[in-house]
Amino acid sequence: MDLFTLPDFDGHEQVVFGHDTASGLCALIAIHSTALGPAAGGCRMWTYRSTDEALTDALRLSRGMSYKNAMAELGLGGGKAVILADARRRKTPELFAAFGRLVDSLGGRYITAEDVGTTTADMEQVARQTAFVSGLKRAAGHVGGDPGPKTALGVFLGIQAAVRFQLDRDLEGVTVAVQGLGGVGRPLCRMLVDAGARLKIADARSDVTAQVREELRAVVVPADTIAAEEAEVFAPCALGAVLNEWSIPRLRVRIVAGAANNQLAREADGHALRAAGILYAPDYVINAGGIINVAHEYRGVTGEAEVRADIEKIPVRLTEIFERAANEGVPTSVVADRMARERLRRGGATGGRQGIGVAPTREPVRAAAHE
Ligand code: NAD
Repeated sequence: MDLFTLPDFDGHEQVVFGHDTASGLCALIAIHSTALGPAAGGCRMWTYRSTDEALTDALRLSRGMSYKNAMAELGLGGGKAVILADARRRKTPELFAAFGRLVDSLGGRYITAEDVGTTTADMEQVARQTAFVSGLKRAAGHVGGDPGPKTALGVFLGIQAAVRFQLDRDLEGVTVAVQGLGGVGRPLCRMLVDAGARLKIADARSDVTAQVREELRAVVVPADTIAAEEAEVFAPCALGAVLNEWSIPRLRVRIVAGAANNQLAREADGHALRAAGILYAPDYVINAGGIINVAHEYRGVTGEAEVRADIEKIPVRLTEIFERAANEGVPTSVVADRMARERLRRGGATGGRQGIGVAPTREPVRAAAHE
């Protein structure tokens, strides 16, 4: 395999392979772009079938973070780390310490945080070795902690904007089919019900669906048919690639707007949604609430109001994308990609590194300051 000619390489600035014999760490850090600032993106811990598969995942996720951070106007570039190991069995303080040293060796070109398979507790271990980490437990007087509820808020506001644009109404009486009731899906369901929406819900875990049905009087549907449910909105909050050749002809909604990353299996699926008259809220624009929270935490911002004000820009940005797509007769996904690439190009041309900047706001934790 020739790394530099892989389609997913797509102009990456740097790819680092990290190994530590003592702890058994095998990790990759992909930095797609620092044109707009230090590359920020979470650390995924996953059992990959091969290093090639892990590399492809890291490259795709890292480019996705470049686009997401560019659109969220955070003064951050895009990167991602993957630890190649089983998150249920291989976590040790030594492993995350070694990962922290790897992150630190990049001198602030990459800022890590939690992601699938890692938690705020794991990031506390990383923070003993490097200051280039966010997504820690909420410290007194600072924003931070689990980004899930902040992502949910951005998705909720995005759904509201999409319903206003496509259906010219508010959420009262609108049915939303929510796939996945985890850290994002569950708080999203609460916000939707509070705004008067009706819910159809599905999750791979029946105990979770039972709890949400009780709490919110939602209708539970099978996990394998939620994408084909009749509703005004489909909100994918579980898996990637849910919008594909097979699922799009079966959709019975007017809007797709949810938290999951990489919802479109292929670029062509954005065109298929438009052809079907379905308004698609580009995933990396609507789900930026979590990274907005992480970025503010990293800067040491103390007020929730600042975070909220930035999350409230998500529906404004989406409405601009919806309008441009309608005026130009192209898919919303095409407009979003174009806007993101343009921002990266302009950032690169002007030297970038505006906004948050490379310098961390605090020293590595090292001692037990977060406990
Ligand atoms: P999570 O792991 O907490 O929850 C995912 C839920 O989906 C779980 O309850 C799981 O049981 C369920 N699920 C898995 N497979 C399913 C299936 N086939 N059908 C129905 N349900 C299924 O994850 P999360 O933090 O809630 O994130 C949800 C999605 O949003 C992910 O794609 C994630 O990458 C993306 N995202 C999350 C954040 C964040 O702040 N947490 C930010 C941006 C994007």
